[in-house]
Amino acid sequence: MRKKILVTGGAGFLGSHLCERLLNEGNEVVCLDNYFTGQKSNVVHLMNNPYFEMVRHDVTMPFYIEVDEIYNLACPASPIHYQFNPIKTVKTSVMGAINMLGLAKRIKAKILQASTSEVYGDPQIHPQTEAYWGHVNPIGERACYDEGKRAAETLFVNYHKQNNVRIKIMRIFNTYGPRMHPNDGRVVSNFIVQALRGEDITVYGDGSQTRSFCYYSDLIDGMIRLMNTEDDFTGPVNVGNPNEFTILQLARKVIELSGSSSQIVMNPLPSDDPMQRQPDIRMAREKLGWEPKVQLEEGLLKTIGYFKTIV
Ligand code: NAD
Ligand code: UDP
Repeated sequence: MRKKILVTGGAGFLGSHLCERLLNEGNEVVCLDNYFTGQKSNVVHLMNNPYFEMVRHDVTMPFYIEVDEIYNLACPASPIHYQFNPIKTVKTSVMGAINMLGLAKRIKAKILQASTSEVYGDPQIHPQTEAYWGHVNPIGERACYDEGKRAAETLFVNYHKQNNVRIKIMRIFNTYGPRMHPNDGRVVSNFIVQALRGEDITVYGDGSQTRSFCYYSDLIDGMIRLMNTEDDFTGPVNVGNPNEFTILQLARKVIELSGSSSQIVMNPLPSDDPMQRQPDIRMAREKLGWEPKVQLEEGLLKTIGYFKTIV
């Protein structure tokens, strides 16, 4: 049966891939976005599909529509963009969650929250399991995003307990791929764009901090699987690729795979930058039957191929 699905943040990197996948599976999709970090060009190729609709709207304002499912992705995800207007970032996470949960309650829709590994802050246990409460500086540069997403999780859980809203919370770990904006500012797109332009590769700090990188197609697969789990499974569930790399290793890999002559330069490490991050994905394996398929080299080659066409 054709479902009607709302995707907030649908013109962003992950949102646009999600819209595309949901349409390909025969659903009707409404893409809501205020185009802060997203772009129409990410979804313009979907616009000749009669089951696709775009709405310019800001999730901090109430929105009314009849749908079966809501994927709540609206929120800038790159540190430089979410720190540009930190108050707005908190509003987007918190008021966006209130508005979308209120909508879900009213129309009895199922709702999925795009949460983040940032709820674990600069983690003191490694790898991170869902049971870990995290280590977040509430007044630091990242707090607008981290605490906003943590408050959103609290709202989700309480709308579920108090109002029986069917919720799903997904803690997304660093995900990359085609359609990241060239000025997005996150590490994979930055390094690839710099390598392709022959510019210096800007490693922050000494590059010994780690991340675990997931390719977008795996992530979208996990997201749809989570939405389709039984109602009694709410998460939170980690979704990411557990293969962990230092940022210096990533820089070298990007130079090698793009055949670039760029040099690596060290820039200051931003404050509160987490030193290590790796998802424990046992829950995703068990509850979603999910596991990432695309490893870093393959995903980087595909992403480099994409950026070659636009930079
Ligand atoms: P993105 O910046 O490309 O997409 C976010 C989208 O939300 C953009 O299209 C933006 O214009 C839109 N948006 C922002 N504020 C809005 C508002 N107030 N109202 C309506 N739309 C608004 O980033 P992404 O990587 O696609 O991230 C999507 C979601 O996944 C975000 O919620 C992010 O926090 C979460 N997430 C992503 C990652 C990752 O590694 N990509 C990791 C953890 C969590
Ligand atoms: N980073 C870097 N150079 C860049 C951009 C990011 O060394 O040009 C580092 C950043 O300091 C962090 C890691 O790469 O340690 C991942 O940064 P990103 O902004 O992609 O995501 P997050 O820190 O939110 O995981």
